[in-house]
Amino acid sequence: MFYNRRLPIGEAVAVTTAPPFTSAYHNGATIMKKSPWHSIKQDVHHNNTECNTGNNIETENKREGTGGKPLCSECAKLS
Ligand SMILES: [Zn+2]
Repeated sequence: MFYNRRLPIGEAVAVTTAPPFTSAYHNGATIMKKSPWHSIKQDVHHNNTECNTGNNIETENKREGTGGKPLCSECAKLS
């Protein structure tokens, strides 16, 4: 990965993340898909880092995974 030093930052990121994130980039957006998370206080789970509701979950209420809950409508619109 040391050769990335010579590349512009955007390109270096693309090169570094290309193999695992190929499908995400093919969707025409650079939004990174994240593993789902949810709040123990909400009845939905989130999977989009752009989601305000998902981002506003307090750390103590945040859990990894879907929790068996449906996807948040805001995340559904963003993805
Ligand atoms: Zn959400």
